Amino acid sequence: MVILRPRVFVTRQFFPEALEVLTDAADTEVWPDDEPPTPEQLLGKVVEADGILTNIMDRIDADVFQAAHRLKVVSQLGVGVDNIDVAEATRRGVLVGNTPGVLAKATADIAFGLLMSAARRISEGDRWLRAGNWKMQYHPMVWLGAEVHGATLGIIGMGQIGVEMAKRARGFDMRVIYYSRTRKLELESQLGMEYFEPSDLLSTADFVTLHIPLTLETRHFIGERELRLMKPTAILVNTARGAVVDSQALYTALKEGWISGAALDVTDPEPILPDDPLLTLDNLVITPHIGSASIDSRRRTCLLAARNVVAGIEGRRLEACANPEVYAAKGI
Ligand code: NAP
Repeated sequence: MVILRPRVFVTRQFFPEALEVLTDAADTEVWPDDEPPTPEQLLGKVVEADGILTNIMDRIDADVFQAAHRLKVVSQLGVGVDNIDVAEATRRGVLVGNTPGVLAKATADIAFGLLMSAARRISEGDRWLRAGNWKMQYHPMVWLGAEVHGATLGIIGMGQIGVEMAKRARGFDMRVIYYSRTRKLELESQLGMEYFEPSDLLSTADFVTLHIPLTLETRHFIGERELRLMKPTAILVNTARGAVVDSQALYTALKEGWISGAALDVTDPEPILPDDPLLTLDNLVITPHIGSASIDSRRRTCLLAARNVVAGIEGRRLEACANPEVYAAKGI
């Protein structure tokens, strides 16, 4: 009797040690190109798949679930699963894995780096200097920026990355205030933080940093109203998802000085279009979604995503799952 091995499709090349975890357990096909498969190509690849390993650029919608009739698990390389129709997966009994925790510190490092860069105008100074503008000698009244130490940091979303931001802020003697769906009394005393309602946080903080997932509820969480509540000296940092912020409102806020600056690792859409007006602004620091892209963090993330695939195709619980309600239906 021929025993068929499970099949896995991986939508992008990744760490060889993570690939090994997959090939030990399944016939594994890896998309060879740097550009992601088109929706049509993806549909073609998932037809016989028991598991898919995806990332933020892959739209895993009802059509994919319809085509992938053997599918048991979609394993996302990342913590946010806003590119996956999780409700449809749940309806069909397909597990959705993700990779929280292993990338939280690396992402907080970038968020704090962006905050520093926007406050002290590091990227702006670099661009200006390389453009050949450094002609005047040192002048005490130019290139002044905002002080980070001692300032008030407002964290929106007190999950794994939010906590890491609070820890970094403590090292800079910052006052930390936060808003999250659920109040965290124990963390408040551990990390010396205060809970604020969103409006109060926005009008109090010198820096506002976003660490909530993108959901129907959090789309444009920061829009015109919220930007107008912020201090004119304040800086907004977004390493969550681009669409958590209304980009048009942000452009106006930066252009008209409702706030002093912004730092983004994520945009809406991604990649940001080359003629996006945001890119014309000097008071914006921007990076191409590299929050979790440290070598060690990415390796850990790939390994966890691979283990989630194997657990899913073998009918075991995943190490991290975005729809654990499927376990009951599967009796695992
Ligand atoms: P997490 O541990 O799940 O934390 C998310 C936090 O947001 C939780 O504390 C959560 O709820 C809170 N929250 C959810 N919905 C909310 C709402 N409507 N209003 C207020 N708070 C809400 O996730 P994480 O690991 O910190 O990651 C956060 C996000 O960062 C991810 O979803 C992802 O989109 C993004 N991310 C980006 C990068 C990058 O490369 N730039 C890397 C990793 C992650 P409770 O308050 O109930 O706990």
